[in-house]
Amino acid sequence: MEIKFLDLQKINMLHQEEIENNLLKTFRSGWYLQGGETKNFEKNLAEYIGAKHTIGVANGLDALRLIIRAYKELGIFQDGDEIIVPANTYIASVLAITDNNLTPVFVEPDVNNQNIDISKIENNISEKTKAIMTVHLYGKIAYNEQLSDILNKYDLKLIEDNAQAIGAVYNGIKTGNLGDASGFSFYPGKNLGALGDGGAVSTNNDELASVIRAIANYGSNEKYINTYKGLNSRLDEIQASILDVKLKYIDQENNKRRQIAERYSKEIINSKIILPETKEGNLEHVWHLYVIRSSERDRLQKYLAEKGIQTLIHYPIPPHLQKCYEEYSEFKFPITEQLSAEVLSLPISPVLDEESVEYIINALNSFN
Ligand SMILES: *Cc1c(COP(=O)(O)O)cnc(C)c1O
Repeated sequence: MEIKFLDLQKINMLHQEEIENNLLKTFRSGWYLQGGETKNFEKNLAEYIGAKHTIGVANGLDALRLIIRAYKELGIFQDGDEIIVPANTYIASVLAITDNNLTPVFVEPDVNNQNIDISKIENNISEKTKAIMTVHLYGKIAYNEQLSDILNKYDLKLIEDNAQAIGAVYNGIKTGNLGDASGFSFYPGKNLGALGDGGAVSTNNDELASVIRAIANYGSNEKYINTYKGLNSRLDEIQASILDVKLKYIDQENNKRRQIAERYSKEIINSKIILPETKEGNLEHVWHLYVIRSSERDRLQKYLAEKGIQTLIHYPIPPHLQKCYEEYSEFKFPITEQLSAEVLSLPISPVLDEESVEYIINALNSFN
């Protein structure tokens, strides 16, 4: 048996006819940027999230960069201000902050759910703190009442990095609509994946939306009038037309992921393996990744590879230990560092069949 970590071809072939029709339609239309497909997808995405505005952009990193940049243009953030961010995240969350000359203040995760430990945020707030960037890592919701209380008490903005969690629901509200603005990624491997790069911002704030839209389009809301020193970060018509097909099926596909996660959580039983926390209650996670832990992670990964099961590590080196962030290399985040040595992501996707799930569970249960 050969089980890929993620079979993108199979995932996209689920909607072959509709995707091919839209590709051809867009190709033949002669209109490839800033047209009806993007508008239509933005409208449908906004409706899906429940947010007033969504703005299609070039990728997930740009979505986050643009939010922070727009707050700077509005005079709400200044150079040197601080944004609280989880130490255990993909580097894009941090790059979006440093690229704007703001300072990331890292907070350790909760070892059991790998998301930011909300109880440790308040100690890290200073005079310069302007926002909290919460990351719904692995498709698991990183938000609760305590976080909401902190935001109110200190009058902070909440920026969501929703790159891994489209479709997740907290208490009836979709992630991406819990805070002031949110960044989405449509990188091919994400739960809602394009056939290339893509991203979006969502917000309920009219002014912020308008500034982001302008900055993403050379700083211009009106042709040849440049209000900001902008960038070029646009979602193209072809990607938008494909994403619009896939958006219709996102709940269905996330449900498949939930079913697989449930089986893993029930049936993987091995004292050498720690399973992810599955506490649901008012939380509907979307299981972008199903991440187990083991103190013998590298041996486990090799063992699974020998059985034809491909796994990945998200992430082997935390942002503060990356070469590009030498200035943070003295920081100590023992929980984050422990996770980077122990985590292992199992195959999970809407096209992973029962037989493969069974095979993976059996392999894990016989690891010794
Ligand atoms: C994928 C990802 C991003 C960046 O998305 P791109 O589209 O690749 O730029 C940001 N944050 C997290 C948590 C991600 O997983």
